[in-house]
Amino acid sequence: MTDQPVRAAQPRQVSPRTAPAATEIRQVRPRAEGWSQKKDAEGRPALQFASPKRGKPPVHLADLTPEQRVEKTKELGLPGFRAAQLETHYFTHYTSDPAQMTDLPASGREELVAGMLPPLLTEVRTLKTDRGDTIKFLWKLHDGALVESVLMRYPGRITLCVSSQAGCGMNCPFCATGQAGLTRNMSAAEIVEQIVRANRVIREGGLGPAEHDGERVTNIVFMGMGEPLANYARVMQAVRVMVDKKHGLGMSARGITVSTVGLVPAITKLANEGVPVTFALSLHAPDDHLRDELIPVNSRWKVDEALDAARDYFEKTGRRVSIEYALIKDMNDHGWRADLLAEKLNARGRGWVHVNPIPLNPTPGSIWTSSEVSVQREFVRRLNDAGIPTTLRDTRGKEIDGACGQLVATAEDEADAADTRVGADRHS
Ligand code: SF4
Repeated sequence: MTDQPVRAAQPRQVSPRTAPAATEIRQVRPRAEGWSQKKDAEGRPALQFASPKRGKPPVHLADLTPEQRVEKTKELGLPGFRAAQLETHYFTHYTSDPAQMTDLPASGREELVAGMLPPLLTEVRTLKTDRGDTIKFLWKLHDGALVESVLMRYPGRITLCVSSQAGCGMNCPFCATGQAGLTRNMSAAEIVEQIVRANRVIREGGLGPAEHDGERVTNIVFMGMGEPLANYARVMQAVRVMVDKKHGLGMSARGITVSTVGLVPAITKLANEGVPVTFALSLHAPDDHLRDELIPVNSRWKVDEALDAARDYFEKTGRRVSIEYALIKDMNDHGWRADLLAEKLNARGRGWVHVNPIPLNPTPGSIWTSSEVSVQREFVRRLNDAGIPTTLRDTRGKEIDGACGQLVATAEDEADAADTRVGADRHS
């Protein structure tokens, strides 16, 4: 719980303030640059919620409950207690290599490991910053789909930004992933495997000198490819494995951030799970007029509905909610929008929310470019002055997770951009 008093929620509808006259301030409107968005029959950006039918990834230990793991071990011809040994190898030693599992009987070991820990991610390439504190992984899934994850070392914590879908069906105009549509949902094990592989890299010294023994990923942000709440069941199974102290990775739920562009029924469901993860709403605009264009799912669930659901998340879990707000020059960074956002948040009580404005990477000539520094400061000042705790996110984060990590071009371009941006040396 936060230590600030919580005021009873007040009426939740707040009328948008009148925007200043067009002559006073520029208003850039969202549009896709360099591609065309898929449209529905009414000419609106198409939303795709269902995963297309494709070959499923192999079932893996991390897709199963502990009981199912015991059953499957028996089916594979070994006593059920061997499942616990496999769990230790995978979740504690980060290995899927039967040669390292000498506590398992030689007879049947290969078959057991092949059946329980099938390969899921093939490393296509990794990009590493000069300082070695950020690594971007590009993974190929069993069917050739590409996803990425990003590993970041900060003082006292190591964060991994994970993907939850190959592609995405939310069709945001700034996002290359959205333009390509949803390829498929990732399995729970494909999500977890990103963490296990990152832990292996950390243990082998790939993220630079360790601060202490047994260092591993401490924080997860679901801000890679995909809309996590559109792949709800698998994301929740992955989260359960992450927090399970006996049969999983034993991570803290507080260190796991599940973000969404505003799938309201799924936010409500998440609030009732009893797993107090950190919840982040990628809002990016406080008024429906702009957000309808910027985040197409807003045509389904409006700003006020998304904020109500976020507030309910706080009430049910006691976990303070994060509002993510990518600051885009002349598009959503106007002072009156900061005031309107503060007004809408304060209308729902105090002490329940924190705002994270994230300046975009500067992209000269694009409508998707960073707000001026003075504008960023003014935006933050207005929110703080209105009593909303607000922190401008650091530049490393913005490279990675501005809005689901996709405020960049294609995976290929992104890798090249990262190469230029951070002077990366390639490891593949
Ligand atoms: S910004 Fe996020 S939700 Fe929107 S299309 Fe891209 S990955 Fe999907």
